[in-house]
Amino acid sequence: SDDHQLVLDLIEDIPDFPKPGVVFKDITPLLASPKGLRAAINALVALAPPDIDVVVGMEARGFILAAPVALELGAGFVPVRKPGKLPGELYSEQFSLEYGHETLTVKTDAVLPGARVLVIDDVLATGGTVGATAALVHRLGADLVHVAVLMELGFLPGREKLAELGIHNYSAVV
Ligand code: IMP
Repeated sequence: SDDHQLVLDLIEDIPDFPKPGVVFKDITPLLASPKGLRAAINALVALAPPDIDVVVGMEARGFILAAPVALELGAGFVPVRKPGKLPGELYSEQFSLEYGHETLTVKTDAVLPGARVLVIDDVLATGGTVGATAALVHRLGADLVHVAVLMELGFLPGREKLAELGIHNYSAVV
């Protein structure tokens, strides 16, 4: 569709960022375009199942997409953040990166048990970020009904990793 084509056209490949050999998908041209931003949000909203209570977005680019999707769906927004950012009692999930580990946190009272949750991020690479977020949603006692991302990196086994984790309700715009 036109939305998909515009999203694809406005995501830029940046070679050797953030380090040599990596091709970074830069969504900032998409976000800066009024038509592009609208297309991105519409495309993500179109992937959402009915009756979503809460949209969970991950720091930092997931926030930018998840909040407007929540607004469109009439849902709430909940941030998943890196350590040291959220106050109060937290759940934490650690996951492996190429070098070392990353941790994501969520407030223990962020979502009511049984709430229907949609997880939104910009790019799915190895699936580590979505995997840890899904674990956090599970610990909240909520129902992870769908994961939607703007773009998946097809040369990485992110989708397979999510399937291994039992996350089958997953889709990507491009
Ligand atoms: P994963 O955990 O390996 O799936 O990496 C996904 C996370 O890293 C997401 O939160 C993305 O924001 C970020 N990420 C990984 N690769 C890219 C990229 O090429 N462009 C933008 N973000 C990326």
